[in-house]
Amino acid sequence: MKVPITGPYTLASWSFNEAYDGDEQLAYELAELVNEEIVRLVDAGATYIQIDEPALATTPDDHAIVGECLDRIVDDVPADIRVGLHVCYGDYFRIYPEILEYPVDEFDLELCNGQYEQLDVFTDHEFTADLALGVVDAHTAEVESVEQIKANIRKGFEVVPPERLTVSPDCGLKLLPRDVAYGKMENMVQAAREVEAELDAGEVDLD
Ligand SMILES: [Zn+2]
Repeated sequence: MKVPITGPYTLASWSFNEAYDGDEQLAYELAELVNEEIVRLVDAGATYIQIDEPALATTPDDHAIVGECLDRIVDDVPADIRVGLHVCYGDYFRIYPEILEYPVDEFDLELCNGQYEQLDVFTDHEFTADLALGVVDAHTAEVESVEQIKANIRKGFEVVPPERLTVSPDCGLKLLPRDVAYGKMENMVQAAREVEAELDAGEVDLD
């Protein structure tokens, strides 16, 4: 079971801070609480925790603070628990490859919305983590076709091999009408199954 949870840096950045000297201190205090939450989620059966830090991509100078938060978050979390980090809507070249130092197994990235123009950022320097690639746009109400999503999935193979690639929506789909959100998810699953079958059949050119 995978559980997404908002990270302490974003909670601190997007809060009205009237009690702490700065957002950095607030973020570290919140990291202790997020750590408590995650330990309990793991006790309850979660095997994959995704930390959502959308604020990181918009304030890249603080990437070291986010790293310190992540160190505190994963403290006491068993090594076999998968930890991912979701980042969205920013200039990735300002945080990559530094973020590869973070104690996470997978990065969940929004790239579909920008038509994968930032994909080069991740191919210029070896991507040493697993990649969860955004393959449907969370900001457009048009449901992408299965063929379009399959083409998006294949872009992920430019960064990591298939065994290290998972697919996901760019970001949360809460702002979309429900039928559109379901339509995107249905087509995404269909596209993933078809690409898997093509990989099994040796029909995907990975060079
Ligand atoms: Zn997001």
